[in-house]
Amino acid sequence: MPKVTIDPEACKGCGLCVSVCPKKILKMSEDKINKKGVHYAEMTDQDKCIGCAFCGLMCPDCVITVER
Ligand code: SF4
Ligand code: SF4
Repeated sequence: MPKVTIDPEACKGCGLCVSVCPKKILKMSEDKINKKGVHYAEMTDQDKCIGCAFCGLMCPDCVITVER
């Protein structure tokens, strides 16, 4: 099963990963912020991930690791 790891402290909150996920299982944290003061990307349903790695490829800061 694919595993997606997101480093919340490295995320700059751009939201690009959320917009490209075909399964719509990434979202920006609503009530939490990181040390940069931004809402960061979170996985909502790891079991639905198909391991396409679009999120990891799209992230400008290489915050997301996808293991397949
Ligand atoms: S690997 Fe694909 S399906 Fe999984 S979270 Fe990233 S974009 Fe979504
Ligand atoms: S693309 Fe990267 S920096 Fe942008 S919200 Fe997603 S994890 Fe954060």
